[in-house]
Formats: sequence, structure tokens, C-alpha cells
Amino acid sequence: MPPATHPPTPALTRHQSLVLGALAREDAPASAYALLSHLQGEGLRAPQQVYRALDKLIEYGLVHRVETMNAFVACAHPHAHAQGLVVFAICDQCGHVDEFSDSAIEQRLQGWSRSAGFRMKESTVELHGDCARCQAAGSREAPAVAAMPAAPAAKPARRARKAPGAGPA
Ligand SMILES: [Zn+2]
Ligand SMILES: [Zn+2]
Repeated sequence: MPPATHPPTPALTRHQSLVLGALAREDAPASAYALLSHLQGEGLRAPQQVYRALDKLIEYGLVHRVETMNAFVACAHPHAHAQGLVVFAICDQCGHVDEFSDSAIEQRLQGWSRSAGFRMKESTVELHGDCARCQAAGSREAPAVAAMPAAPAAKPARRARKAPGAGPA
């Protein structure tokens, strides 16, 4: 079993540390343009500078791109998943993101990849919904229809059983 540690992170450039610092202060994923607007006082002027820093930070495993939001988050635990599955649970109301990994899901995906002859390089799962805090705050007006962003997702095995009648409150 290979060691599950990151390669040592190279020293960050000034721009990279600024971008990482700005991301770490965010409670929700931030777009490159939002980062740029936070960092303009620090001498970053062009979106290109932010993107270049983000590319490197992603490469180092310190930042993730949240594809369905076209935004970026600082990794919640950079040492914990050198390779492997990352799951984001994204609250569509407040934008809060919980990052976690799950070895059971990862093993299922690896098993499928092996049996299909697929070489998996990256696996990210993005869940959209309402976080516990927003549910508690807005439990009176439960949304009737869940809006699902288009995201390719492996469906778990179908279950025939279905709870009957979630009637109107
Ligand atoms: Zn991470
Ligand atoms: Zn929320």
C-alpha cells in the first residue's frame, strides 16, 4: 500500500499564499473574480494571476474546484486525501460546503473502474441540497421540488421499495 501522504508542498509564491489565504477566509466557494476583488489591494490585478495561482494550489492539493459552481474552496484537510475520492456537500441556500471523503464509495468506484477497464484519475462527487442549519432556519417552508443541477453521477443500486405518500403538510 503506497503511503497516503501528499508530496511535500513546495514553497508558495506570494500570489499563491494570498489566494489561499483569501479562500481560507471564505465560508463558501469563491469565484476567481471574487478572489480578485478581495486581493486587488494586495497587488493582484488580472484574473490571469488568480487563475495561475489557483492552478498551482489545485495541483498541490490545497484547493479544489467545485465544478457545479465554477468556484474554488480551500481543502478542508489537505493531508488527508493525497489521492482518492472527495465529496462536497453544497448548501444551495447559504453556499456552505462540507468536504469529506468516503472510502466505501471510493472502493465501489475503483471496483467498477477495474471491471470496466477504466483508468480513473480523479473522482469528485458534488452533492447539492440544504445544510442542517438552513433546514432548521427554514423548516416552515419546505421546498416542494428539488432543483437538480446536471451532474454526471453514479447512481447507487436501485431499490424497489418506496415510502408511500409524503403528503402536503
Ligand atoms: Zn480536500
Ligand atoms: Zn445552508
